[in-house]
Amino acid sequence: MAIRTYTARELVVDARRVFAGGGLVVSDSGEVLEVLDSAGVVKRRAEGEVVDLGEGVLAPGWVNAHAHLELTGLEGSVPRGEDFSDWIKGLLGARAGQRDADFDAAVRAGAARLLRGGTTTVGDVDSTGAALRVLADHPLRAVVLREALDVGDAARRAEVMASLREPPAPGPSLSVGVSPHAGYTVSDALLAELSVTFGGSEQPLQIHWNETSEEAEWERGRPSSFDGLVMPNPARPTLERLDAAGLLRRPVSLVHANHPGEGDARLLRERGAVIVHCPGAHSWFQRPEFDVEGWWTEGVEVAIGTDSLAGNDALDMAHELALFRQAHPGASPERVFDMATRAGARALGLQGRVGELSVGAFADMALHHAQGAALEAITNGASQVSTLWVSGKELSLDPGCVQ
Ligand SMILES: [Zn+2]
Repeated sequence: MAIRTYTARELVVDARRVFAGGGLVVSDSGEVLEVLDSAGVVKRRAEGEVVDLGEGVLAPGWVNAHAHLELTGLEGSVPRGEDFSDWIKGLLGARAGQRDADFDAAVRAGAARLLRGGTTTVGDVDSTGAALRVLADHPLRAVVLREALDVGDAARRAEVMASLREPPAPGPSLSVGVSPHAGYTVSDALLAELSVTFGGSEQPLQIHWNETSEEAEWERGRPSSFDGLVMPNPARPTLERLDAAGLLRRPVSLVHANHPGEGDARLLRERGAVIVHCPGAHSWFQRPEFDVEGWWTEGVEVAIGTDSLAGNDALDMAHELALFRQAHPGASPERVFDMATRAGARALGLQGRVGELSVGAFADMALHHAQGAALEAITNGASQVSTLWVSGKELSLDPGCVQ
């Protein structure tokens, strides 16, 4: 690739910097070299070939902070059930019939769907190895969060730790992190081992936390439908267990977080944790309203994820943003855009590199076609993405090519 300058009707660098007629100089290695904040500056300072993208809005690609692409093949096949434990049992049953080739195909199909909606980075929880196999050589930038769970079984624990110590195959736009799945699947013994390996590491850590009131009751040692479901009750709240293991350190993200307890928000703010909210899954499970204002008031950042098609109807960040805005009409387009870009980058330990088009960031860009003010138009679900670039490399979004 050669140095290029891209310009469009609107350039969105981040939620606070939107420049009419602005431009970006992108290096031959696919990073942003310079931000040009007006058409006049583009004329004077453009370098290399100038690519005029016309009427479009050029913005950072979405950062989907939480997905399970290996479950894409289970779309529509797991019933919601009476309560969350029924859905978990249904999911385990549906997964049991899948083979490696099915999971690989699911990751490929899910990644293609994310790209078509303008996502350029995903944080993907991988329990089968499929995401590592497929995304190591795929245009979608990925942080593969290798799942670690033992449900209290020592043999499983040894196996999990051995696989986590194996270095993954490197990929041009792939990095790894770890996901202890949830408090109800991880014994104190496994947390102690994860603490030794990952407590001082900079790998991102992500965990599901208190998606339902039943889970919150269970971790507080009260009667719950989680009793007898997965493993013995450690009788200590998950955040306390994680913090004692030194695992509430940056970058760390907690997915769902629908039922925080007293003092939890303060602890998470102090530890620099990011909450990941999944509007589509939230709506699919008919959860009560998510208290985003509560987290913001406490100074905790909230990112957006799609979760999996086993509990959502779409794998499309624009759809997630539109749902979020319907549920939270008071949230400004700037704030919503920030959730789906910079907050996601923070959750995945990629701040400054993805989710913004500042100098030094990867040129991970999406060209949106939308009428009206840029951030309003690209967060309300009405815009179309025609072109994507990852590290400055243009991707075709033709369904026949993105597979
Ligand atoms: Zn999830």
